[in-house]
Amino acid sequence: MYNLPPALADVLTLPSPLESMTLDGSLARIWCKRDDLIHPIISGNKWRKLSQTITALGHRRVTQDSVHLISFGGGHSNHLHALAYTCFVLGYEFTAIVRGHYTGNETPCLQDLAAWSSHIIYTDKSQYKRYTDPSHPEHQASIQALQTSHPNAIILPEGGYSVDALAGSAMCMTEIATQLPQAYDQYSAVPQKVLVVSPVATGATLAGLVAAKYCDVLGIAVLKGQGYLEDNVSELLCDEHYDRDNTWWINHDYVTRGYAKSSPVLDGFITSWNAANPTLLVESCYSGKALWGLSELVKSGHLKHYTDIVFLHTGGLQATRNLSTNSIDKK
Ligand SMILES: *Cc1c(COP(=O)(O)O)cnc(C)c1O
Repeated sequence: MYNLPPALADVLTLPSPLESMTLDGSLARIWCKRDDLIHPIISGNKWRKLSQTITALGHRRVTQDSVHLISFGGGHSNHLHALAYTCFVLGYEFTAIVRGHYTGNETPCLQDLAAWSSHIIYTDKSQYKRYTDPSHPEHQASIQALQTSHPNAIILPEGGYSVDALAGSAMCMTEIATQLPQAYDQYSAVPQKVLVVSPVATGATLAGLVAAKYCDVLGIAVLKGQGYLEDNVSELLCDEHYDRDNTWWINHDYVTRGYAKSSPVLDGFITSWNAANPTLLVESCYSGKALWGLSELVKSGHLKHYTDIVFLHTGGLQATRNLSTNSIDKK
């Protein structure tokens, strides 16, 4: 199923475990797909999204030039963190283009990147937007210029957002499809109506889960993007019949004030959840927000026609080391 470069195969936990868990007031069986356990640093869904690219590179016959990857992210980026460490393990050169100037004020994430020998380039917001926003009129030219100055480098999109990410994310669903029936006593019940629930920031993870066509998929938005996120997912799937099937949707009720912003209720949920579940920790940016949303939806009876609900823990716990909420946008 996996064809990983040996240096990675040694350190990644794949398939990630599927565990049973409980949520108050649920009639369905609740499961947790522990992508947070794939690796302590190579964060779950960021690994899924990068896995196709990294696996392909790992098996390429590397000639005189070593591999050099370039990507983009903020000062707390799970994507840069996961990718930088992956490159470090594989001996690849890595350049991180970071939104904002952190010289003398490096976040724990950026300190790690430096320790893993990444090159770090700080850019202001407007230059960053040129690199990362495909609708920016100078986007193509900026990427072209970057490529020209690093002719052998492979430039990967911000957050691992690409059509290539889907196959990696779909792999997570393939694992669930194998593990869930095995988790039952083979002589009694079998899963009947399954729902997989995942946080959504760009939608690439969600699109991959849908593309696997195993069961219904609910995304819980962690940032403001009603309409836009649905469009992202449809566009990535590039196949109108997924829409007609109506087997996936995104809930926008648990965003709070926006990306990486919390609320007293969300903080309260996370504090009591983490105190009661020390082996299944969540954070407020992604997993905690999505789990809070799921637990509210379960309580309200909205999901009562599902027999099995699988909460996808996408990882991301590195960011909890410094979650002062507004430091992300300040720079
Ligand atoms: C990036 C990230 C997400 C969001 O994934 P998308 O594919 O952008 O929707 C969810 N969880 C964690 C932990 C992440 O780091």
